[in-house]
Amino acid sequence: MNKESALVVFSGGQDSTTCLFWAKEQFKKVYALSFLYGQKHRHEVDLAREIARKAGVEWDVMDVSFIGRLGHNSLTDTSMVMDQVKPADGPPNTFVPGRNLFFLSIAAVYARERGINHLVTGVSQTDFSGYPDCRDAFIKSLNVTLNLAMDEQFVIHTPLMWIDKAETWALADRLGVLDLVRHETLTCYIRIPGDGCGHCWACLLRREGLEKYLAGRC
Ligand code: ZN
Repeated sequence: MNKESALVVFSGGQDSTTCLFWAKEQFKKVYALSFLYGQKHRHEVDLAREIARKAGVEWDVMDVSFIGRLGHNSLTDTSMVMDQVKPADGPPNTFVPGRNLFFLSIAAVYARERGINHLVTGVSQTDFSGYPDCRDAFIKSLNVTLNLAMDEQFVIHTPLMWIDKAETWALADRLGVLDLVRHETLTCYIRIPGDGCGHCWACLLRREGLEKYLAGRC
């Protein structure tokens, strides 16, 4: 297998930042690609750029603001307030239909242009919100589709697919970036970096995982 270079789909959150450092351990050369999908999201992209700079990886951003025009969701629509708790009946209104389909497809074309066939994404179906495009079956299906679409041999890596938030913290710690991930990434739905607002369900999930991991480490 070619272990030369990989492209990480990179949001600057806990999961994709952990994946960025995982990729740095696995591959000789790592690229990070972020996606801008509306003004609401610009601060996140600035943080992603800064983390990529500290990681010493080549970083780029694609403007995919059209996603906000395709449908309503609270990540792109300035008139909508994000769900503070996960609804019982389906994904929260932070769900952007097709997001990972778009991101990974664009990432594959971008990677192909640069002779990169490894793609890395921080999706996980273990501990998360029920977003359908975070599931393993979707990723495997898309991997086949991308290979057929471009007659290439892409390999999509999902290092977090089967691990929970506590194990994701453990991985960051093993990679030597626990503090960086804890203090500089942004997971919070009201966009407060680090430990976040402490109340939205993204913050709660993140904190529960961290507490579980730290309790087990002592
Ligand atoms: Zn929060």
